[in-house]
Amino acid sequence: MGVTEVERKPQPVASVSSVSSSIPKQSEVQAVYGKPGPAVENQLVMINFPFSFRIDWNLRQRTKRIRVHKLAAPQLEKALNEVFNHYGEEKWRELGIDRFAGSYNHRKMRGGNKWSMYAYGCAVDFYAGPNGLRTRCPDALFCKPDYKAFLDIMEANQWLPALRLWGADGMHFQRARLG
Ligand SMILES: [Zn+2]
Repeated sequence: MGVTEVERKPQPVASVSSVSSSIPKQSEVQAVYGKPGPAVENQLVMINFPFSFRIDWNLRQRTKRIRVHKLAAPQLEKALNEVFNHYGEEKWRELGIDRFAGSYNHRKMRGGNKWSMYAYGCAVDFYAGPNGLRTRCPDALFCKPDYKAFLDIMEANQWLPALRLWGADGMHFQRARLG
């Protein structure tokens, strides 16, 4: 499972230019999404997609459902439908963008005592293997040109790629800004 993000300081990266102020900062997620635990769990919703993702750690298993916070779900639903429609199913699977690697998880960040973005229901991972925690461009798979549209569509729908937030952990997307 994609249990990978670590505690880190904000680090402005110019490529995230279209970030809306309606996306909470990481320091604001508790006020927006709730306190990790029941307050967040009560606000989780299941997105149902008209196509199935493969489970990244067990590719014979599939799911059509991804569970995230209700305030982040409409954006993710729109983003992933747009991604699927942009590539078409065959290319989408060939590129491994269909490899769902985790969403809501009640846990702390690695290397710290803060709650993970997963504990707020505002983070997802895809295709963990070649998009590791410390893998930066150009080595991470999602840095390759074929994936630019995927990252663009996610970002345009407020789900920010970690590759563009802190330049590593390519599998990771979150509806939270740094800071
Ligand atoms: Zn992640």
